[in-house]
Amino acid sequence: MKEFIDSKLLKKILWQRKLMKNTDHYDFVVIGGGPAGQGAAEAAAIYGYKTLVVESNVLGGVVATTGGAPTKTLHDAALYFTGFRDRGVYGLAGQIDPAFVGKHLRSRTIDVCTKMQETVRLTFEKRGIDVIYGRARLGPGRTVVVAERQHGGQERKFSADRILLATGSRPFCPPNISFEDPNIYDSEKLFTIPRLPKNALVVGGGAIGCEYASIFKALGVSVTLIDSGDRLLSMMDGEISRLAATVYEGMGIRLIIGKRVKCIQRVQDTLEVTLESGEILSSETALFAVGRSANTDGLGLNEAGVNTNERREIVVDRGFQTSAEGIYAAGDVISPSLSSVSMEQGRVAACHAFNLAFKESIDPLPVWAVYSIPEVAGVGLTEEEAKAQGIDYEVGRSNFATLPRGIISGHSDGMLKLVFRRDNHRLLGVHALGDIASELIGLGQATIHLGGEIDLFNRLTFATPTYSMAYKFAAFDGFRRLGTVQQKKGDDYVGYA
Ligand SMILES: Cc1cc2nc3c(=O)[nH]c(=O)nc-3n(C[C@H](O)[C@H](O)[C@H](O)COP(=O)(O)OP(=O)(O)OC[C@H]3O[C@@H](n4cnc5c(N)ncnc54)[C@H](O)[C@@H]3O)c2cc1C
Repeated sequence: MKEFIDSKLLKKILWQRKLMKNTDHYDFVVIGGGPAGQGAAEAAAIYGYKTLVVESNVLGGVVATTGGAPTKTLHDAALYFTGFRDRGVYGLAGQIDPAFVGKHLRSRTIDVCTKMQETVRLTFEKRGIDVIYGRARLGPGRTVVVAERQHGGQERKFSADRILLATGSRPFCPPNISFEDPNIYDSEKLFTIPRLPKNALVVGGGAIGCEYASIFKALGVSVTLIDSGDRLLSMMDGEISRLAATVYEGMGIRLIIGKRVKCIQRVQDTLEVTLESGEILSSETALFAVGRSANTDGLGLNEAGVNTNERREIVVDRGFQTSAEGIYAAGDVISPSLSSVSMEQGRVAACHAFNLAFKESIDPLPVWAVYSIPEVAGVGLTEEEAKAQGIDYEVGRSNFATLPRGIISGHSDGMLKLVFRRDNHRLLGVHALGDIASELIGLGQATIHLGGEIDLFNRLTFATPTYSMAYKFAAFDGFRRLGTVQQKKGDDYVGYA
């Protein structure tokens, strides 16, 4: 009897839910289920706003398909399979079977991506956020038209009090390059690569290019990395970026800096790559990582009065509202950046859309992390920026070669660098290269946010051996450079810093 009642009750609940799902009006409709969409949808749903997310592919966005999760999985797997970082330390340099590794890399990457997508789906379910799969565009008034995937693209219309555009970005593919060629890849197509190539040309020395170049190298691929700028990782502190270049070269990556690819031609089994300088390189494979373009096509922006800039990115105000009232945008679609930044933008956009006090503005000092081998990370002002702003600054460095943790790991190529004001020692920027640089930078980020000085690192007793201890020795190095009274105290540690 009880079971009968329970199943009747269950049916009623399910029926009510179905009715709710078919309701065509929502408080908030979010187009795009990537980090920006997630951040926004969750923030609104937590405050009780009836929210719908429209996603044309899978929940999780680039992170859970071709971006952060798969590249970081490849990074970890490459280190695990090859022991690349430890070869010189333990003297073991066994050859791995590329076919064996390739198979495991693929299955592990798929596994991680699936888990990430499922985690987003379950979180949405828990928060009562509805999801519909299909391609969306803005309709007249404050409406969204969705070509529903499960109904063969049949259109369905939703109205909303507020709409968020969070459609993300895609790889920029230079028009002079034929991406039809099976051996020329962008960062999304790369996941279709059937086997590890013998050699690869990576075009673009930004985060994605450096990550792929070093991962390929660890996996035994012969790599050339080319960048048209005057240095790799242009968003990073110059000294750290030059150190990264030295480390990559030490790993055996050939770097070509300040040159641009003019065209690529297929000559039998190889790609003939002509640089603008006239130099010709040949490579089995080429990977382009030369920036991202916002996904704004087909969204009905003009008709809805949503303005874009000359790069076709959506223009927003400080509250992430577009030129059309009630329509917001966040994430890569307003300017391709990071998953962490996109998610925060989504949250802030939802807060402005519904007047929530939870989060008014985004962090002006996000961490930039590059998960290459080794990692590179930075937060706050670079030395170049401090100089350009006319700040009377000083720096302090700690090399991992003299840090107990670095000596033990044998990964001595790292460095932590502090940039701080000379007058009051206030920390302005922290930059790092080495193991766990992306984690290490967090202490510096918090210190900068709290207006802290490098003297804090003198006061703290760090556990040892740890990489965090580098903060203390970098601070001592800073004191020494200042020539202040702390110099005497710092001198006790001269052997470490
Ligand atoms: C190789 C690579 C590695 C990266 N690594 C990192 C990293 O380590 N750390 C980090 O912080 N960032 C990283 N990024 C950047 C990060 O992935 C992006 O900044 C982030 O995904 C942007 O989030 P988003 O929500 O704006 O867009 P996206 O993640 O692009 O999500 C947008 C979603 O909208 C959907 N969509 C698009 N158009 C429509 C439509 N018309 N209707 C319905 N749905 C639509 C898409 O299918 C997609 O799911 C990496 C990027 C790449 C390419």
